[in-house]
Amino acid sequence: MKIIMLGAPGAGKGTQAKRIAEKWQIPHISTGDIFRANIKNGTELGKEAKQYMDQGLLVPDELTVKILLDRVAQKDCENGYVLDGFPRTIPQAEVLDKELAKLEDAIDFAINVDVPDENIVNRMGGRRACLSCGATYHVQFAAPSKEGICDKCQSELVLREDDQPETVKKRLGVYHEQTQPLIEYYTKKGILKSVDGTQDMEEVFLSIVKILGE
Ligand code: ADP
Ligand code: ADP
Ligand code: ZN
Repeated sequence: MKIIMLGAPGAGKGTQAKRIAEKWQIPHISTGDIFRANIKNGTELGKEAKQYMDQGLLVPDELTVKILLDRVAQKDCENGYVLDGFPRTIPQAEVLDKELAKLEDAIDFAINVDVPDENIVNRMGGRRACLSCGATYHVQFAAPSKEGICDKCQSELVLREDDQPETVKKRLGVYHEQTQPLIEYYTKKGILKSVDGTQDMEEVFLSIVKILGE
């Protein structure tokens, strides 16, 4: 099964993608996580991506597409995957579709986690990230058992630089302009499914399970 998660920054794509990956035993692929791992390791790719990410802008399509296509060509993706944060532009979606079509394959579902802008800034302010293992917490809605420490790997949790309120507002603007058109793109393809992302995490997941089937 090949799934795409759509939604504004902070809508809960990552939270749900991790659960889908676990239930269906497919890899969770987050382009944001790949970029952050590269920044942490000081690679050339990381240096390039950081310039855009810190400003709340998208990393250029060419670079992003290459990374994603390399990733989905790996053996663990044979039975499908859940993409979190890709595609974020129409050209990214078109390249993905074209590459899949070459293999007589296609995306099965695009799940839109729908959350209004008003809820986003609050959610992002409370998000805490583990840059070592990619786990995500929320000070109010998904607190770690020990404040500021990752449950999974004991590393220190951080408020991501791009989760500061000013950058979040910028990212929301970028989302509406460049990413939201994908909702229409996948609606036309007949594979868009929307879920109400303002429900609590468990309820959002149950809505998704209903769509994907047990
Ligand atoms: P969030 O989960 O809050 O939406 P991500 O971790 O997905 O954030 O992305 C963080 C940043 O990484 C984005 O603001 C953007 O700069 C960059 N990025 C991630 N995925 C893509 C993509 N598909 N295209 C371009 N830039 C991307
Ligand atoms: P995205 O990947 O779309 O940027 P995340 O999954 O990282 O979003 O979620 C953003 C923040 O909101 C995180 O701190 C997460 O713990 C929290 N969160 C996710 N889903 C919900 C929800 N349904 N209700 C409340 N908080 C949520
Ligand atoms: Zn961790």
